[in-house]
Formats: sequence, C-alpha cells, structure tokens
Amino acid sequence: MSHEKSRLSRWLGRSEVPAREPSTPLVVEPDAIGADLYLLLNNEGQIHSISAHLLSRLGLSAHTVLNQRLMILLLPNSALVVEGVPGDWVGHMLDLDFRSNDGHTLHARGWVQHHGKGWLLQLTDISDLMEEASAARTRQQCLRLAGQMAEKIRGCIVERLPSVIAEQLEELAQMWRIPCVALALPEASGIGWRVYSQYSAHTAPELWQVGQRLGNEFDLLDANIAHELHFGGHTELSPLQSMFGNADGFLLPHSRDGVAKAWLMFGFYEPRRQAPDLGEREWLNLCSALAGPVLFRLSEQHNRHHVERLAVLQDLLGTGWWELLPGSDEILLAPQLARSLRLSDRVERLARQDWLALIHPADRQELSSRLLQLRDKGTPMLLCVRLAHADPGQETVWLRIQGQALISGQVQRVLGFMLDVSDIKNQETEAAAAHARLDNLIASSPAVIYVQRYDQGNLEPSFFSDSLTPLLGWTLAECVNGQLAGYIHPEDHDIWFERNRQLLREGFVSRRYRLRGKNGDYHWLLDEARLLRDDLGMPVEAVGLWLDVTEATLAAERVRESEERYRILVEDSPAMICRYSPQLVLSFGNRPLATYLECDPAELPGINLGDWFSEDQREAFVRRIALLTPEAPMSTAEICLELPGREHAWWVWADRGVFDESGTLVEIQAVGRDNTDVRRSRMQLNQSAKMATLGEMATGLAHEINQPLNVMRMAVVNVLKRLERGNVDVDYITDKLNRIDSQVQRAARVVDHMRVFGRRSEVEEQLFDPYDALEGTLAMLSESMKGKGVHIEAGERGAPVQVRGHADQLEQVLINLMVNARDAMLSRKEQNPDLQPAISLDMQQVDDKVIVTVQDNGGGIDPRLLEKIFEPFFTTKPVGVGTGLGLSVSYGIIEQMKGRLSVSNANDGARFKITLPVFNGD
Ligand code: ADP
Repeated sequence: MSHEKSRLSRWLGRSEVPAREPSTPLVVEPDAIGADLYLLLNNEGQIHSISAHLLSRLGLSAHTVLNQRLMILLLPNSALVVEGVPGDWVGHMLDLDFRSNDGHTLHARGWVQHHGKGWLLQLTDISDLMEEASAARTRQQCLRLAGQMAEKIRGCIVERLPSVIAEQLEELAQMWRIPCVALALPEASGIGWRVYSQYSAHTAPELWQVGQRLGNEFDLLDANIAHELHFGGHTELSPLQSMFGNADGFLLPHSRDGVAKAWLMFGFYEPRRQAPDLGEREWLNLCSALAGPVLFRLSEQHNRHHVERLAVLQDLLGTGWWELLPGSDEILLAPQLARSLRLSDRVERLARQDWLALIHPADRQELSSRLLQLRDKGTPMLLCVRLAHADPGQETVWLRIQGQALISGQVQRVLGFMLDVSDIKNQETEAAAAHARLDNLIASSPAVIYVQRYDQGNLEPSFFSDSLTPLLGWTLAECVNGQLAGYIHPEDHDIWFERNRQLLREGFVSRRYRLRGKNGDYHWLLDEARLLRDDLGMPVEAVGLWLDVTEATLAAERVRESEERYRILVEDSPAMICRYSPQLVLSFGNRPLATYLECDPAELPGINLGDWFSEDQREAFVRRIALLTPEAPMSTAEICLELPGREHAWWVWADRGVFDESGTLVEIQAVGRDNTDVRRSRMQLNQSAKMATLGEMATGLAHEINQPLNVMRMAVVNVLKRLERGNVDVDYITDKLNRIDSQVQRAARVVDHMRVFGRRSEVEEQLFDPYDALEGTLAMLSESMKGKGVHIEAGERGAPVQVRGHADQLEQVLINLMVNARDAMLSRKEQNPDLQPAISLDMQQVDDKVIVTVQDNGGGIDPRLLEKIFEPFFTTKPVGVGTGLGLSVSYGIIEQMKGRLSVSNANDGARFKITLPVFNGD
C-alpha cells in the first residue's frame, strides 16, 4: 500500500510553469526594446524574430516559428484580432491568447509599431488578470451548483431520492466534464463501501454500477483531503487501480470528525487539467454539498423505518418499552404497552406506585424491589409477573419484564420492556402437565423407554424410564457395563446381537426376545429402537421401547401348540376328516380320506366329492346338505361311494354346516367312517337270515308246489281215462288242459318269486310300493298257511305309495312276522284246539308314513319279554327250531329304511307295527 500511496499526489492547486533556460539562438535581439515579450514581423505578418522570453513561455524553439505566420502561435479565438497584415493593426490594443506547449494559455496584451523595415509587436503578460477573473467565476459557479444540489436533495420526496441523486451527479459531471462519477457510501454492516449512485457520460466507459461492492480500500486514505490518482506506467494492478480502470482518477471524501462518511469518485479525470480553477476546498465543499444531504436523507429514512418496525414489533408481540424517568418517580410507557395494559389512550406516564398496582400482589413486591435495585445499583432486571385483574375467572396474563440501566450523556436512564408471555407460560404449564401425565403413563404401562449411548460401535444403556424396575426388577446400574446382554435368554442371544448390528446398519430395528427379570422369570419383550445421528451422520444414541408381550406371546404359543395338536389329531385320526364347499369341492382332507381316494392329502383340495357318487346318491347328498341351517347344522347319513378299485364303499358320514353372518352356508366340515365291512356283514346276515327263512319255508313251499302238481295229475288222469273210454270230448279236454296250464303258471310264479327272493339284495336302495312286498309275501305263504289251517285276512291295496329300500327285504320282514305269528298260534292251538288261527295283514298311509300291521291271535308276548325279543339270538323256541335272529334282522332292515318296527299285545295276540317314511320327492 505504501507503494500505492507513493503514486498518489496530494492535490496542490495550480501548477507553476517550470522556468526554462532561455533557448538559443535568438534570431534577432533588437536593442532598445523595453518589453520581455515581443515579436518582429515583416510586412506580411510573418515572424522575423521572437524574444527569448516569449519562446520559453511558449515552450517552442526558434526555428519552428521563424517565417511562420503569427496565427500559428495563437488560439483560434484570437484569429479575428490579427486578421490582415500588421499595417492594419496599428493603433489597436491587441488581446492575444498564445497556445503554450504545456497546455496553458498565455494571455497577452500588445500593440504594433514600425521597427526598421518591419513591425515590432510588443506584449504584456495579462494571464494573472484573466485567470483570477475566471477562477472567481468558477468558484461562484461551484457555490451555486453546491447550493442547488443540496437543495434538490433535501427537498425531493423520498421515493425520488435515488433518481434525484443520480441527476445531481449528472449535473456535476456535465459542469466539470467528468466522464465517470460515483457516490460511494458505507456498507450497512459498516465494513467496506458500496456504489450508491453513479453517472457516466455516453462517450466514457462505465466504470461503476449502482450497488457495486468496493471493498475497504478507502479506509487507508486520509479522509480530510482530496486524492489525485495517477497510475501511469504501473502494470501491476492494485485494487484501487483496477477500481479506476487503471486511469487517472480523483477521490473526494466527505467526512465528519475526521471519519469518512462518503466518497465521491471521478474516473478518467485529472482535476488540475480539466478544472484548473477549482481548488481543493471547492472540490471538498462540492462533495459535502452532495453527500451531506444524501446521508441526512438516508439516515432519516433509516430512522423512520426503524421506528415503524419497532412499532409493528411492539404491536405484534403485545410488548412495549417503559422508562423510569430520571429525577422523578414516574414511569413512561410506550403507547402500545399502555394499550395492551388496558390503560386509557392518553395515559403514557404514571406514578411508579400506580404501575406496580397493575401487577398481581403475589409478584408486586419482587418487581418493586428489583426495580429499585436497577435504579440505584444498575443491576439488570428480568422477571415474569402476573397482571392483577379484578375478575378472578379471567385467564392469567403473564408479563416478562426486563430492564437495564443506560448511561446516556451525563444522565443515567432506566429502560426496559414488558412482553406478554401468557401463551408461552400457559403452554409451559400445559406441557408440564402433559409431561407429568406421560411420565405417569409410562411408569404404569408395561412399556420401558430406554436410551442407549453409542460408543465406538458399542451400545450402552444410559437411561430407562421408571417402569423398568416394576416390570423387570432391574435398575439402570444393573444393566450397564455389558450386564444387559447377560439377561438375554441363551436361545435368543443371536437375535440380540443381530438386533444391535441391524440397528447400527439400518438405523431401525424391531425384534422379539426373552429377557430375564430380577426374580428369574423370563419376559418376552418386543423391542423397537431407532438410532439417532448428529449433523455429520455419526450415531449418537439409540432410543427404544420395550413392550412386555409375554402374555400375548405365550397365548400365541399355546394357540400354536393346540393347533399343532389338533392338526396331528386330524392327520392321525383313523376317521376321514374333511372340509368342503356346498358344491362338494374339497378344501381340506386328512390322510385317511386321501388313502381311500388313492391320492396324496395335498392333492385333495379341489377334488369334487360328488365325482364318487352315483347320480342318485349325489342328488340325495346335495339335498341333505341343503337342509342344514344355522339352527340345525348337523346331519348324519350313510353314503355309498364308488371308489377307485373297489366295488362299493359305505361311509357313515356326519356333516356340520358353517354359516356366515347372513346365515348362508359357506362350508361343511365332515367326519366319516368306513362302514363297508359292517354293511357287508349285515347284508350277509340278512342273506343268511333270508336263507334260513327259505329253509324254514321249504315244507310250506313243497306244499305250495305240490298243490298244483296234484291238481295237474288229477287232470291228466281224468283226461287219460276219458281217452281210454274213447270218449273224446274236445271241450272237456280243453278245459282240463287249461286247468293244467294255469297250475303250471301258478307253480312257475312261486318258483320265480322264490328265485327273486333268494337273490342277494341290490347294493343301492330303490323306490317301491310296500303293497307289492305284501303281495309277494302272500304269494309265497298263503297256500302253506291255508294248509296249516291259518286264516289270512289281507287289507285292500290303497292309493299307490312309494318307500325307499329293498322290496325283498321288506318281504323278508313280513315273512318273519307271519311265520312267527303262525308258530305262536299253532303252539297255542296245541293247548286250545278250538282256536281259529287268524292273521290280519293291513297297510295304511297316515300323513307321510306308511303303517303295516301284522296282528295274530296267538296269545301275545309275555310283557317281560317285550323288551328282549328284538335282541339277536333271543328265542323261546326249542333248540334247533328258533335262531333268534328273525326279529333282530327285521328290526335292522326297517331301521335301515329309516322306519321303525315295534310290537304290542292286542286282541289276544301280538301286533307288530312297521312304520316307514313315504318318499315324497326330497
Ligand atoms: P325265532 O323265531 O327263531 O325264535 P325270532 O327273533 O323271530 O326268532 O323270535 C324271537 C322270539 O319272539 C320268539 O322265539 C318268540 O318267543 C317271540 N315271538 C315272535 N313273534 C311272536 C308272536 N307273534 N307271538 C308270540 N311270540 C312271538
């Protein structure tokens, strides 16, 4: 900088023309010429000779001017004065302005006179005279301009201030031909400078822009003097040099108390040359005339903004300043404050006691004493007080009052502000209450909040909520220094360490593990933790929550175990268990079912049960399922299936419907048992019983067939006799042959029926009219019964009716009953020969039932035996005669047909009643 400084020259005002050595040779030095400055001219006005002094004043050498016209030494404005030839100028006062080499003008006054053959032009230097006049004029101009500028800046409206200032700079520039001019003001921060306004002529490059930062170069300059800047020849640019475009410049300070408040900058300007008449004082005055009012207006504006901002702030915050007036016991209040304290608008000043009276009695004493301490000792004051209010129901208003002492000039002032902090105070109260509630909640909940401090990859507990001890029995001290890991269940160690790693890696973790309580019991904890990081992303601590989920976990475990047990039960059950939809599509089936269907349990879902049924069976099955209701969701049936690789399978099948809220059947759960073997043995039993019946009936049947044979033999014998006699009566023979034919048909019918009866029953049940069975029975028995003297009375066939079952089996039941009746009657007849054995056989339809009764007059059954006669192998007949199976098999057959076989004693005999459900299409 000292280098920089050396290039700055203090502005010294007018420069002196340096004295020059008289130049030689003087062409003519006439004698007896009184003046220092003269010229000898020939008649045409060409220079013949010139005085050495004049030559040196003009800075010329003699040979450049000799024989030239006088005009070339003069400024153009002198051309008129020397028009024509010297002879014309005689007797005139000639005011001539000579052009000097150093750029200055030499003002001279002279006259011509004859001299030898030519003319002598003698001159007197009147420059001083001329320049003084011009300087006075310039100074006056300067004053006027300064006055105008100050007036315009002071007088304009604030919005126009920037443009008015720019106009003044332009005026200044035009007046003194300044190419670039700018006004620099301090930055708002007080450090450095900034271009506030600028003007540059059209012809000049724009050196500065409004708002441009200028750094703090000016601070090194003397703020009381003008500075001329010359940088000629220095290529290394200093900041100031580049600021001025490496060209000559001029800097004017406006200072107060020796400190620069503004700088006026001139670019491409050399004041000494361009405004030689202006001295440093004039320049500094001009600068102050411009900058002074600008600074004044700006600070005025700044202050107004400040006051406005303060007012808004006070209004918004419900705050305001107060001041304890020095020398009095009164408090001055900001208008906003007076308003918010609900004082009347005009009250801005009140006695200290009245001010204190506004405060709640509980806080008044403290405020009063703090205020006196502040006033007397200067102790700063800060406290929160409540406002006193008449109405106790009103919400409390809290004020924060702050005050401090301030030395202002000679006096001490006591100032402060009051701020309405009710919001914050009330929030604080609420937050404290909420905090207390939360603390309570956490302490009494089965949750523990914890913080783990991060230390080089290790997490160390640093905080537990109060609920830790009630929940687990431990204290914080018992969990630090790695002790916590020791409480983790040995089987959960892996989970615990993985939890730590994941927390550090991903910032969040949720795990479930067992932790031992102090009493030795393990608790299932649900641990959810989050890692908190600092601004640099480094882990700081982990915050987490332990939730005791022991009960839930154990309950879930129990459910799982019981599910597992049930699953095993279902899987291992010998019974078939399955679930299927109302459309008979399986959704689950256990292994036994899969085994029957010859597939894997996994293949069962999707299979349709109906595929294994005959059409009739399927219809019956679907019908039965459709009858399930939420009130009666159960149904049991024996179903017949056509299984792969087997003839027929009989399953005892129990269904239970599952219904949705609207009562719609959504699923059926079923348990089945294979009943095929039972069924088969029953059928075998039936068959053998049937065979036994047949065997028993053999005598009867022989009689049954013998009878037609006898009739036929008689007919044949009679016909032969006739033929022997030669008595061939065609009608007679035809009659006998017809009789034979009808007997053959009758025998054939009996044999036919026996064949049918002897056959095994059909696998599936059929629909038939029970009266057909009744007739079949009579066809086989009636003749033999008649032969034994038993009268049979059979009811008429009624309206057609159908039952489901096997006709041959019902026939077998009827045969059993009739044979038993016959036996009972015949054995009774042995004791009572007068007895007329009679069986009445009847069939009636009552509502949806068909009732078949078989009534005899064999004396009935001992009432003590009524219970027992249906038991298998119960017989009262001698060994080898009775089997004791007839009634038990009959009972089974009727039950199979969903009917009932019962017995009672009536009309001197036993009455057996068969009740069968009528098939009505369902
Ligand atoms: P069985 O005829 O081979 O003895 P059942 O089961 O047919 O076997 O009959 C069982 C018993 O019931 C008979 O031994 C008989 O004592 C009694 N019983 C059956 N029907 C009658 C009847 N109509 N009157 C009296 N007793 C009867």
